[in-house]
Amino acid sequence: MSNVHQPCHIVVVGAGIGGLTLALGLAKQGFQVRVFEQSKALSEVGAGLQLSPNAMKVLRSLGLDTALESHSFAPEYACIRDYKSGSYYLRSPLGQEVINRYGAPYWHVHRGDLHAELVQACYANDVDIELDHKVLGYRNERNGASILLEGKTEWADLLIGADGIHSKIRELMLGIEAPLFTGQVAWRGTVPVNAIKNVQVQPDATVWAGPNQHVVTYYLKGGELINFVAVEERAEWLQESWRQEGDVKDLRQKFSGWHPEVTEILAACESSFVWALNSRPTLSKWSDGAVTLLGDACHPMLPFMAQGAAMAIEDAYVLANLLGKGSFSQAFNDYEAIRKPRVTAIQQLSRENAGLYHMHGGLTGQLKLKALSLASRYAPS
Ligand code: FAD
Repeated sequence: MSNVHQPCHIVVVGAGIGGLTLALGLAKQGFQVRVFEQSKALSEVGAGLQLSPNAMKVLRSLGLDTALESHSFAPEYACIRDYKSGSYYLRSPLGQEVINRYGAPYWHVHRGDLHAELVQACYANDVDIELDHKVLGYRNERNGASILLEGKTEWADLLIGADGIHSKIRELMLGIEAPLFTGQVAWRGTVPVNAIKNVQVQPDATVWAGPNQHVVTYYLKGGELINFVAVEERAEWLQESWRQEGDVKDLRQKFSGWHPEVTEILAACESSFVWALNSRPTLSKWSDGAVTLLGDACHPMLPFMAQGAAMAIEDAYVLANLLGKGSFSQAFNDYEAIRKPRVTAIQQLSRENAGLYHMHGGLTGQLKLKALSLASRYAPS
C-alpha cells in the first residue's frame, strides 16, 4: 500500500446511518463516492433514535440540523424511574441546559427521517447510491481494492465497510465469528400519541428500571408519536434472523403491572419487532490495506447509552476529515487510534447500564447512587 497514492474513488459498503454519514462527509471533502447497498430499496426500521449533542454536532457540520429540526422532539429531562411507582432515581435536565453545556441540542428523531435526509443530502452532493449491490468479497491490490459483487467485480482506491453487525467486510478481514448473544432482547415500536387515552406521558427521555427488565420511552416527530424499547432477559435466541415480529399480547403480559405510562403505551401498540441484542469483543484491527470498518461493523454496542448510531456518526466525521488531509494509511492508523478508546469505553458503559437498569445490584439506593455517578461521567464531546 502506497502513501504517495492520493485516493479519489471511495466505495462505502452499506447505506445505513453510518455509511451515509461517511459518504456525505467524504463527498464534501471532494472525493468521488459510491455506496453499495444490498437492499433493493432504501428504507430504515420504523423506530426512534436519541441523538445526543456529539451526534448533533456532526450532523450540523454536514448541514442537516435545520432539515431535521422539523421532524425532531427535544425532551426536557433524561430520567430513570421506578418501573412500578414511577418515582425518580434520576432527573437530569436536557433542553436548553444541554445546549448551554455542550453547544448542541439533544433531539429525538425517527430513524426513517434521519435516513431520508442523509439520502437526499448524499444525492445533492453527487454520491452514487447503488441498490441491490451485495458485496461478497474484496481483495487488496496495488493502490486499491477489488470488490466482488454478484456477477461483477468493481474497483476502489479505498473500501469502507459500514455494513452493520453482521459485516461481511469484517468477516473477510478478521475471519468468521458469530456475534455474541448478550442474553437480552429488545421489543421496539411506536404508538400515535392520540391513541393513548388514560395517561399523560411525560415529555422526557425515560428509562423505567425494573427487575431483569427495563423500558425506554420518548416522544418523536414533534410529539406526534411515542417510541418505546422494552428489554427483557432470555437464556437463548434460537431464530436465525436477529429480528422477528413479536406478539404484542406477549409483550403486554411481560410488562403487566408496570407503571400506567408504560402499560398504556403498550396497550396502544399494534405491532412490534423483537431484536436480539448482540455484541462483539474488541477487534484486533480495524483496517487491512486499502480497507477499513466503521460503525456497528467494528464496534456494535448494547443500546443502553443510546450511542450506537452516534458512534457511527462520530466515526464518519473523524474518518472523512482524516482522509481529507491526504495520506490514507496514516488516516486509517489515526482513525483507529482516536476512535478505539472512545468506542470501547462507551461499549463498556452500555454493558454496565444493563445491570443498572435491571436492578442487578438489588437495592434501589444503590441504583440511585450509581445513576448519579454515571450521569456525571457521561459528557458527550
Ligand atoms: P446499520 O444501520 O446496520 O447499516 C448497515 C447497512 O449495510 C444496512 O443498510 C445493510 O443492508 C447493509 N449491508 C450489510 N451487509 C451488506 C453487504 N454485504 N453488501 C452491501 N450492503 C450490506 N443508537 C443511537 O445512537 N441512539 C439510539 O437511541 C439507539 N437506539 C437503539 C435501540 C435498539 C433496540 C437497537 C438495537 C439499536 C439502537 N441504536 C441506537 C444503535 C444503532 O441502531 C446502530 O448502532 C446503528 O444503526 C449502526 O449503524 P451502521 O450504519 O453502522 O449499521
